Amino acid sequence: MKLFKNFIAGAWVEPTTGDYFDNVNPADTSDVIGRFPLSSRADVDQAVASAQRGFERWRRTPAPARGDVIRKAGDILVRRKDEIADLMTREMGKPLTETRGDVQEGIDTAYYAATEGRRLFGHTVPSELRDKWAMSFRRPIGVAGIITPFNFPLAIPTWKIFPALLCGNAVVFKPAEDVPHTGTVFVEVLLEAGVPADVIQLVHGTGEAVGAAIVEHPGVSLVSFTGSTETGRSVGETCGRLHKRLSLEMGGKNAMIVLDDADPDLALEGVLWGAFGTTGQRCTATSRLILQSGIHDDFLSRLVKRARALKLGDGRREGTDVGPLVNEASVKKVERYVDIGVADGADLLMGGRRAAARGLEKGYFFEPTIFARVEQGMRIEQEEIFGPVLSVLRVESPDEAFRINNGVKYGLSSSLYTRDVSVAFRALSELDNGITYINAPTIGAEAHLPFGGVKQTGNGHREGGWEVYEFYSETKVGYVDFSGTLQRAQIDNYLGTPD
Ligand code: NAD
Repeated sequence: MKLFKNFIAGAWVEPTTGDYFDNVNPADTSDVIGRFPLSSRADVDQAVASAQRGFERWRRTPAPARGDVIRKAGDILVRRKDEIADLMTREMGKPLTETRGDVQEGIDTAYYAATEGRRLFGHTVPSELRDKWAMSFRRPIGVAGIITPFNFPLAIPTWKIFPALLCGNAVVFKPAEDVPHTGTVFVEVLLEAGVPADVIQLVHGTGEAVGAAIVEHPGVSLVSFTGSTETGRSVGETCGRLHKRLSLEMGGKNAMIVLDDADPDLALEGVLWGAFGTTGQRCTATSRLILQSGIHDDFLSRLVKRARALKLGDGRREGTDVGPLVNEASVKKVERYVDIGVADGADLLMGGRRAAARGLEKGYFFEPTIFARVEQGMRIEQEEIFGPVLSVLRVESPDEAFRINNGVKYGLSSSLYTRDVSVAFRALSELDNGITYINAPTIGAEAHLPFGGVKQTGNGHREGGWEVYEFYSETKVGYVDFSGTLQRAQIDNYLGTPD
């Protein structure tokens, strides 16, 4: 059995605890990928101390040179794309087409970040006073604690770590327990690309031990977390108390709205992909389908027929549409929500149970599940299930659909299918989400645009695009007075009419 290690202070090291956990293939739990460290606070202490040393060097490396290193990381990801996709599918289950897409997202993020090394713009503005320059520029912040979820094992770490490094910070990285192998390979890629050994640290282990220790560590100046809203809340409480800069990307309850005038074939393809892609385990997954009454019945019966034809299986096998859930706890959670939906009076049209077909019994497979007659306010309409469960609601008008879309505590993404351009533009301003797609499903973010959500999905920051660089750098202002006299600002020295 292969024993994996942490990467701390420039070396691959065993955890101080001597304890490990098994990383298993969710499509076949008899396939154990390897044993990974169950680290502790002591390992985090060593990692932060090393990152603090690394930071002192890295922050002085010119940003274009840091960008060069990240470009090389992108090149290595291109070279290793298929290999990483395969090991990612093996440890978390989504089909190879999706894990290749996950790596591609990392590649796109690398190439975008590399060019940012030649921008990182500040402002130069006129001064109020003569012979004086006024400008703002960006400084690195320190050690960034990066805590990531299981569903995008490479893409999400790259969304955080590339901009963090580009801005001159050092990183302590804790990947989710379900995807430690991809996290390990990503650190290998960074080291091969030339990230100095003490600038990146990898500490494996549980959220309660390692994640919490990173968040609480006084040497960690900023924290970027993606995961559930519940975990994010506790991370936020700690960071608030300790005055840490914090980016939170959390849960979603995303809706697709299909109006009577929509192209039904297009919308059908969209909802199948949005609801059952990644087995519903995307923060942007379509978990509510809001159908206008004129198309409701016909669309629903076509949808059920198509969803029944989806092929469940090992994501590494050709032809698989839907892979397994990530672990046993996820299966239990989805089962619980199916029971809640039935008890609350929704109509279970299909699925609702573990998949029992031959070849699936050794994995965490769950049948694609559709509930109809879901009412606003039911728990399956309000709460994030994070599995292949779609709740269908019926509405009379676009405005009713918008109200339902907005009636949840989350606000990540939404989608509207219509041919009416006026309704489409109205939706863009009315829907309370960080992202709205018109005539496309709720998933499909691009690396060069800001990604994130409103309400309890986020805390106002964005990943991706140009905005994330604000998070990983601190604005500083410089004034240079070359007048040779004391010019007093902020007292009444208004010069009156110009000469
Ligand atoms: P999770 O909250 O269980 O875990 C996320 C990470 O936090 C893991 O690395 C975990 O070990 C760590 N963690 C757990 N407890 C911690 C603690 N007390 N302190 C610090 N760290 C801790 O989430 P998950 O199950 O891995 O991922 C699914 C969730 O992530 C869903 O809610 C999904 O919507 C969300 N998500 C959001 C986005 C987004 O961008 N908004 C993207 C992907 C996933």
